[in-house]
Amino acid sequence: MSSRIPEPLKALVEQLARLPGLGPKSAMRAAMTLLKWPEAETRRLGRGIHDLRDKLHLCSRCGGLSAQEPCAVCADDSRTRDTLCLVTEWDSMLTLDEGGFYRGQYMILGGLLAPLEKMGTDSLDLDRLVRRLDEGEIQELILALGATIEAENTASYIHQMVRGRFPHIRVSRLAQGIPLGAEVKYMDKETLRQSLQYRQNLV
Ligand SMILES: [Zn+2]
Repeated sequence: MSSRIPEPLKALVEQLARLPGLGPKSAMRAAMTLLKWPEAETRRLGRGIHDLRDKLHLCSRCGGLSAQEPCAVCADDSRTRDTLCLVTEWDSMLTLDEGGFYRGQYMILGGLLAPLEKMGTDSLDLDRLVRRLDEGEIQELILALGATIEAENTASYIHQMVRGRFPHIRVSRLAQGIPLGAEVKYMDKETLRQSLQYRQNLV
C-alpha cells in the first residue's frame, strides 16, 4: 500500500482487507465509502462492531451467539429435551430453525475435522458435546454437518465416539440425496452414491 496513505486510513484498510470477500482494493473502496458517510452513521457502525464484543457471547449450552445466557433456543421450555442436533456453524442452526420443523435442542461444533488444515479433534468443541450427553437427557443425536468430505469424516468420528461412550444414544444424520425437482441423470456421483446408501423403504 502506498506510503502516502495516512496511517489511520491504512490501518482500517488493512483490517477490512481481512474480511471474507474483500481484498486490498475493495477494502480501500469500502474505507473511502465510510469516509463519505455522515459522521453519525460511521460512528454507529463503529459502535455496532464494539457491541459485538461487549454484548454478544457464546451460549454455554449450545455454543451459539447470544445476548442472553442461556440463549433463547436453549431457554425455550416448549422444545423437546431429548434430541440434540449438531451443526457446524451457528448460521446453520439459524437456517434449520427458521424452517420450524425441528423443535429439539442444538449444539454448535465450531468447525470440522480437516487434518490438512491442522484442524484436529482438539480444535472442535467436543468437550461441550460430551458434557451435554453425560447429563443423560439426550436420546438421539442428529448429525447435520453437511456433505463435504470433512463433514463425512467428522460425522464418522463423532459417531464412533458416541457409540463407544454412550451406546444408548441413537445417532442419526440428515438424509442426503437428490434435491427436489432434480433429475437422476444430472446428479453427481457422490450425491447418487449417498442417495442409494440412505435409500428409504416405501411405506
Ligand atoms: Zn444456547
